[in-house]
Amino acid sequence: MSYRYKIPILLLIALAAFWTVSVSLPGLTLISGLVISGAAVLAYFFFPWKVPVNTAPRREYKKPEPPKSVEEAHKQFEELTSNQCQPQLGALNFMVTENSRALDHYFPIVKMLSEPEIESFYQLVQHIAEHPNFDIQLIGSNREDLTSRLPIAACYLVAGHLAETFFFRQNMLQRFLSMPRHFQLYTTFEAFHQDGGVKGGCYNPNRECIQLVLARLFEGFNGATPGVCPFLHELGHMLDHFDAGSGSMGRTEGLYPGLSPRDGEVFNPKARDLFIKGKRLELDRYLARHNGDFSQPIPIGSPYVFQNNGEFVAGYFEAFFRNPNYIASQNQDLFDAYVELFGCDPRKAWKEDFPNYVKKNREFYLKGEKPPKAGLTIPED
Ligand SMILES: [Zn+2]
Repeated sequence: MSYRYKIPILLLIALAAFWTVSVSLPGLTLISGLVISGAAVLAYFFFPWKVPVNTAPRREYKKPEPPKSVEEAHKQFEELTSNQCQPQLGALNFMVTENSRALDHYFPIVKMLSEPEIESFYQLVQHIAEHPNFDIQLIGSNREDLTSRLPIAACYLVAGHLAETFFFRQNMLQRFLSMPRHFQLYTTFEAFHQDGGVKGGCYNPNRECIQLVLARLFEGFNGATPGVCPFLHELGHMLDHFDAGSGSMGRTEGLYPGLSPRDGEVFNPKARDLFIKGKRLELDRYLARHNGDFSQPIPIGSPYVFQNNGEFVAGYFEAFFRNPNYIASQNQDLFDAYVELFGCDPRKAWKEDFPNYVKKNREFYLKGEKPPKAGLTIPED
């Protein structure tokens, strides 16, 4: 049970006890009130307010025997996920051959790397996949631990998204992997919901883990270029919770590692200044729309990402890796903040952006509908 629920329950029990004594023994009302208040004060001071850090070590993940054919690999997925997950041929080929280049389609970054760099990229993916603090699990119905059956393609996709995020900033990756990092994948949507997963995927701050259905790892990769990437969105949330200064997972502040002065050696003041400027411009444009002023350019993100700082960093993080040309054309400061922070300009890998998000968001704003209230704050300069 979450600590957030334990406190109101404690208060309810105290009140119920007080009421019971008052009704049954009216003469003792004052004494019982004092005793119960004393107990509540003691509980207040001794109650552990901070959720303990989840330092559970990595579950043993030994990669399963490689399937003998693509058909066999496909069958493994079918059986494991009750047919919910249909991975692309690239992933199935990788399971059979273990040739990393079969995964190129999942990582647009390879389009902007030289051959030797691509080799180091896949070495980094393997390094992450085998890192003792990279804790990846597969969970089935009724919370059954199926990690030993996790297809290696899924493990490498998760490790690969981390590698593409940090390839040019490996000092940040080192900080990130200085403590156990948890990724919980689910065989089916039912299994995901049974284990407390919310929406289409989530970052769970109590467990310090990303929870995602296996099928969603492969969701945006059926077209000629990669599309939606729910994992990158959830990684944006996870990075927001990551405190690069201490290496632990903490409260969300709406900042990526490197943007807070408390981030120690990975703090990047230039990226912070650009991020603040860029975020302010996005918020101003959103507020203009909200207040009925249609003379300003429209914001990049959908109203969903303006509801709070967490959704803003998650939404724009994914967009940076899918719509870099659009972001750069609309908000140069914000785009430069990401380039400065992650050390790469993804426009080199994207002649044309993935159009879906851009189109949907533009359509919404250009309809002239009033977007809901924004819940964003701007960090102080
Ligand atoms: Zn989100």
